[in-house]
Amino acid sequence: MTDSTKEPGAYDQLYSRRIYPLDAHDLSEEQIAVAFAMTSRRPEAFDEIAEQVSKEKAADFHERWVLGYGHASVAEHAVVHLAVENVSRLAVDTLEDNRLASYTEKSTRYQVMPEDYFYVPEELSQHQALKKEYVAACQSLFQGYRKLIDGCMDYLRETTPRIASERDGAYRMRLSRVATDHCRAVLPAATLTNVGVTANARTLEHAIAKLVSSGLIEEQLLGGAVREQGRLITPTLIKYADRVDYFAGASTIQLDQARRYRFPDEEPAADAVSGASAPEVKLVHWDRKGEEKLAAALLYRHSNLSYDDVWERVIDLGPESRQAIIDESTAGLGAHDAPTREFEVVDYTFEFTLDYGAYREFKRHRMMSYLPQPLTVAHGYKIPPVVVQAGLESEFEQTVRPAEDVYWKVREVSPLAAQYLVTHAHNRRVVTKFNLRESYHLFKMRTSEEAHFSIREPMLEAMRLAVGVQPQFFRNLKLRNYPDWWPHP
Ligand SMILES: Cc1cc2nc3c(=O)[nH]c(=O)nc-3n(C[C@H](O)[C@H](O)[C@H](O)COP(=O)(O)OP(=O)(O)OC[C@H]3O[C@@H](n4cnc5c(N)ncnc54)[C@H](O)[C@@H]3O)c2cc1C
Repeated sequence: MTDSTKEPGAYDQLYSRRIYPLDAHDLSEEQIAVAFAMTSRRPEAFDEIAEQVSKEKAADFHERWVLGYGHASVAEHAVVHLAVENVSRLAVDTLEDNRLASYTEKSTRYQVMPEDYFYVPEELSQHQALKKEYVAACQSLFQGYRKLIDGCMDYLRETTPRIASERDGAYRMRLSRVATDHCRAVLPAATLTNVGVTANARTLEHAIAKLVSSGLIEEQLLGGAVREQGRLITPTLIKYADRVDYFAGASTIQLDQARRYRFPDEEPAADAVSGASAPEVKLVHWDRKGEEKLAAALLYRHSNLSYDDVWERVIDLGPESRQAIIDESTAGLGAHDAPTREFEVVDYTFEFTLDYGAYREFKRHRMMSYLPQPLTVAHGYKIPPVVVQAGLESEFEQTVRPAEDVYWKVREVSPLAAQYLVTHAHNRRVVTKFNLRESYHLFKMRTSEEAHFSIREPMLEAMRLAVGVQPQFFRNLKLRNYPDWWPHP
C-alpha cells in the first residue's frame, strides 16, 4: 500500500542516489564480488552487505554458488592484475588470446632487446644436439638484430636531417626508434617479453584452462604459474581452473581432419615469397544484404513492429531511402566516436597474410574473431623498408635463413616448438571476421600515418576492398588521412 499522506517533495530524498567505490584496499576482490552478487536477493545497500561478508564467508559463498551451481558471472566482479615477466612471445600470444581482458606488453618498437633474451623450449631437452643448434640459431638472430640496428643507424644518420632545435640525445633517440622498429623483424617468437594483465576471475579461469591444456610445455607451466599467483588474489574463484580435455583435443582433431581430407598442414608453399612483397589481403565473404540489414536494425530500435515486419517494410523502402537512413545515422560521428551498436549486424571476412609482427598488432583488436594458422617459415618473410633502403637485404637474409633451416629440423621433433624460431618478419595466414562497427575503429586506427608500417599497408588494402564493395557504408568514416582512391568527396 502506498502512503498517500506524504507530500510529493518527500520523495526527493526517500531513496537518494549514492555512488561509491567498494575499495579493494578494505575488501578482498572475492568479498567485493559477493557484495555485488548478494544484491540480487538482499535489500540492503552494498556497503552494508559488504560489512557482513568476511573473507571466509566470501569463500563459502563462491564455493557454493559460483563453483557449485555455476553462477560464473559473479566471478567477473573480482579483478586480478598480474605482472608476467620473461615469457616467450609465443606463449604470451596464448595468454593474450582472451578478449575480455586488458594487456600492455613490452614493446619491441621502442626498446632494444638485450642479448640472449630468448626462451629455450623444454621439448628439446631430450635432443641435446638439436638444442645446441636451436640456441645457436637464436643467438645468431639476436646478433644479427644488433648488427642490423647498427647498419640502419649509419644509414639513418646519413639520410635524416636533424631538426633545428633537436639536441644530440633526442636526435639519436629518434633514429634509434626507427632502426629498432624495423630491425625487430628478425627477432624470433622465442623472444622474451613482459606483459601486464588485468582480468576478472572468470576470464582468468578460462585463460588458465587454455594455457594448461596447451601442447606446449612453456604454456602449461605459464598456466600453472598464473593459477598459483592468481589464487593469492582470488583463492576460491580460480581454484579449480584446470586442463580441459576438449581444448586439448580440439587441435589434435583438426590436425587429423586436415590430414584425412588431404589438406596439407605444412609444405613449403609453391607461392612462398621472400623479401619485401605486397601485402596479401583477400575479402573472402561480405554481406550482400548488408544495406537492408543495417537499415532494418536502425529502424527496429524505435518501432514496436516485429523484425519480420520491419524487414518487409525496409525492402519496400528501396535503396535510396535505405541509404538516406544510413547517412543520417553516421552524419554526426566525430573523429573519436564509435557508430552505434546497430552497425554490428554487417560482417566482413578477410584472409590476411601478415608478417608475425603485424599479426601481433592486429590481434590486439578484441572485437573480432581471428583464426591464425600456426607460425611457419613456409610462406616467406617481409624485409622492412629501412633495411632495404639501407642496402642491408643480404645481411637480413643471412640472419634469417639459418634459423629457417633449424626450424625444419626442430619441426621433425616438435612442430609446436618449431614455432619459436619463426621471426617477426615471417608471414602468417589468418582468417578474420569483423563487423562494420569494428571496421570503423580498425580502419581509423590502423590506416593512419601513425600506425606501424607493417600493419598499415594490409589495413589500407582491407579498407579499399570493403569500401569497394560497399562504398555507401563508409561515406562518413572520419580518417586522419584519406587515400587517393577514396570515393567520397
Ligand atoms: C593483447 C594485447 C596487447 C596489447 N599490448 C599493448 C602494448 O604493448 N602497448 C600498448 O600501448 N597497447 C597495447 N595494447 C592496447 C592496444 O593497442 C589496443 O587495445 C588495440 O589497439 C585495440 O584497440 P582498442 O583497445 O581501442 O579496441 P578493440 O579491442 O579493437 O575493441 C573495440 C572497442 O571495444 C571496446 N573494448 C574492447 N575491449 C575492451 C575491454 N577489455 N575493456 C573495455 N573496453 C573494451 C573499446 O571501446 C574499444 O575501443 C594491447 C592490447 C591487447 C588486446
